[in-house]
Amino acid sequence: MQAPSVGGIRLPRGNGETIRLARGASLADFAEKIDANPSALVQALFHLGEMVTATQSVSDEILELLGSEMNYNVQVVSPEDEDRELLDSFDLTFGEDEGVEADLEHRPPVVTVMGHVDYGKTRLLDTIRKANVREGEAGGITQHIGAYQVPTVLEGNERLITFIDTPGHEAFTAMRARGAKATDIAIVVIAADDGVMPQTVEAINHAQAADVPIVVAVNKIDVEGANPEKIRQQLTEYGLVAEEYGGETMFVEISAKQNINIDALLVAVLLTADATLDPRANPEQSAQGVAIEAHLDRGRGPVATVLIQRGTLRVGDSIVAGDAYGRVRRMLDENGDDVREAFPSRPVQVVGFTSVPGAGDSLLVVDEDRIARQIADRRNARKRNALAAKSRKRISLEDLDSVLKETHQLNLIIKGDNSGTVEALEEALLGIDVGDEVELRVIDRGVGGVTETNVNLASASNAIIIGFNVRAEGKATELANREGVEVRYYSVIYRAIEEIEQALKGMLKPVYEEVELGRTEIRALFKSSKIGLIAGCMVLSGVVRRNAKARILRDNMVVAEQTPIQSLRREKDDVTEVREGFECGMTLSFNDIREGDIIETYEMREKPRE
Ligand code: GDP
Repeated sequence: MQAPSVGGIRLPRGNGETIRLARGASLADFAEKIDANPSALVQALFHLGEMVTATQSVSDEILELLGSEMNYNVQVVSPEDEDRELLDSFDLTFGEDEGVEADLEHRPPVVTVMGHVDYGKTRLLDTIRKANVREGEAGGITQHIGAYQVPTVLEGNERLITFIDTPGHEAFTAMRARGAKATDIAIVVIAADDGVMPQTVEAINHAQAADVPIVVAVNKIDVEGANPEKIRQQLTEYGLVAEEYGGETMFVEISAKQNINIDALLVAVLLTADATLDPRANPEQSAQGVAIEAHLDRGRGPVATVLIQRGTLRVGDSIVAGDAYGRVRRMLDENGDDVREAFPSRPVQVVGFTSVPGAGDSLLVVDEDRIARQIADRRNARKRNALAAKSRKRISLEDLDSVLKETHQLNLIIKGDNSGTVEALEEALLGIDVGDEVELRVIDRGVGGVTETNVNLASASNAIIIGFNVRAEGKATELANREGVEVRYYSVIYRAIEEIEQALKGMLKPVYEEVELGRTEIRALFKSSKIGLIAGCMVLSGVVRRNAKARILRDNMVVAEQTPIQSLRREKDDVTEVREGFECGMTLSFNDIREGDIIETYEMREKPRE
């Protein structure tokens, strides 16, 4: 059978077999799977009207299109599918409770507080937590571990509610969005003295899209001018109709600052949970959950706050969360007390990971340390590939030749004090828009100080290291100095973004613009046996310089371009420059000159970027 060809390029031909490619794969990845030459795929795609490099990550559609040209059935596998398959190969599944209906027991609802900035989310979370600090505890100092549980009495029974209290900062939106997956109920906070703002609408959409029931906390009712009624009316537009109006959403008027009606809010959460989801889980199986916060602790090593979603986590369990693994050495609650068993919906700080998991990573208990490590290693390799593909920005290509031209590229290594910040910083940096000429790549990232390993990698790949709220460890600074590796430290995200943006601008290829030097008219022509044709000229404006580029105009038409002025004379002397109003003689590399021709001289100057 004949090999298919596109634009004269011969391509390998499949037999309709299925080729599985990870989402975001490159043509090089594709070529490897079918044992082909990547450049043939690049060229074939070029003829199909798409310009990409061999290592650039391409869309699902392109992979499928190219596959069908070559008679392969391309199946693009999403990261979620891939992970499911990975777990499946160890006979594991994540996300489903084991057993039958009867194995499931009530668990506390997990609550996230959302809403517009300054409406009182942080204050509300603080108030709820403080109100429940056990009497007599040393000054009531609780630790911030990213989540906590509080008891509430409903119809004579004490019940628990779990609150996720990730810091309310813009840059953490990404983490929050993931956090919503761990959430049963969303409390949307709205200031009674203000109203529904875009962020409120966003929060509502977010919760509704995730099928998370909402309880509305109308906050700041202590403030003069508070108008809770208006909020109720406004929210009907967004499908949140208060119970008093015949709807299903509970509105509670509170003051986070003055601790008014907080109990009623907690009761509303429980009632809403009971009426909607009635959250349950199997406490008997191996524990599964989600990491909500993680950082590197000086004394204890990697520490992650994990929300248990099903099963029971115990000290000694082998665990894997994202690409981090380990064994539970200690578990602590928000009061700093040791916990030996953590049941569904319990947030605990886990000590014992060998590296820091990412916020939002799923946690699984497995039978053996070996399995945990294998899963982590496989995920780690995949994450590296995916990030490398993601961090390669699309380069715009005028033609195929420029694929081969050197790309201007800034490599970065990001180290930070917790995974949320590192993620946020990476996302913000990759979002810097400096056009298509420069490429920004994050080649490595992680939680913790800048290490010698980081410096070595930076040195090998010409990267700059960014330390966010961390410093160099051990001999890393010494090594960086020796290797000439630049390490920059920041504690404010926007400052880092600003400086990297400047650096990127500095790396942009220089842009030249033409600057006119002057105009000269040819008044007479002389022939010299020694020198050749000499133009006797008058400088009409500006200056004329030796070696400057010239353009020759005749009747306002360009007859020659880029003709250098070879020699320049005043009287009998060679000169470098002649000014307006003076006569001069010159020779040009263009010989078809005539009297009356205008010689325009110009220079190419580098144009500063704005
Ligand atoms: P966040 O951005 O939503 O986390 O808002 P904060 O919790 O930081 O609160 C923003 C401001 O509103 C702070 O100055 C709080 O003290 C204030 N605040 C929060 N709740 C109340 C309240 O119930 N009444 C009054 N008067 N002020 C409040």
